[in-house]
Parts: sequence; structure tokens; C-alpha cells
Amino acid sequence: MPIYEYRCSECGVKFEKLVFRSDAPAPECPSCKSKKVNKVMSVPSVGGGGSSTSFGSSGGGGCGSHSGFS
Ligand SMILES: [Zn+2]
Repeated sequence: MPIYEYRCSECGVKFEKLVFRSDAPAPECPSCKSKKVNKVMSVPSVGGGGSSTSFGSSGGGGCGSHSGFS
């Protein structure tokens, strides 16, 4: 029984749902009851291709290099 993670595209809430069948319909958002939810692939953190790249190793770059990267 895998647990899938979903994110509502209406209100942006994330929630987990136990899914018994792979062809189960998408659940509705527990917050706003919207059906517009996206399945989020829960990627295991392998290799760490995340947010901590070159943090502290860049000498002399100025302090304005991290603008909004959301
Ligand atoms: Zn929602």
C-alpha cells in the first residue's frame, strides 16, 4: 500500500493519501475540496541535488546571488 503525496493546485496544500490501487482516482483536497490535485513524486534524497550546492565554497561572489528561487 503505497502512500502518495499530493499537492492541491488550488490552495497549494500538501497531503498524503494511502492508495490501494494504482489506477485510483485522484483524491480531493482536504482543505478546499478541490479535485485539482497533482501527484507529487516522493523522491528519496539520493545524491542531494538540492539546495545546498556550493554553499560556502564560492569566494568573492557578492551577497546578491540568491534571489528568489522558489
Ligand atoms: Zn486545496
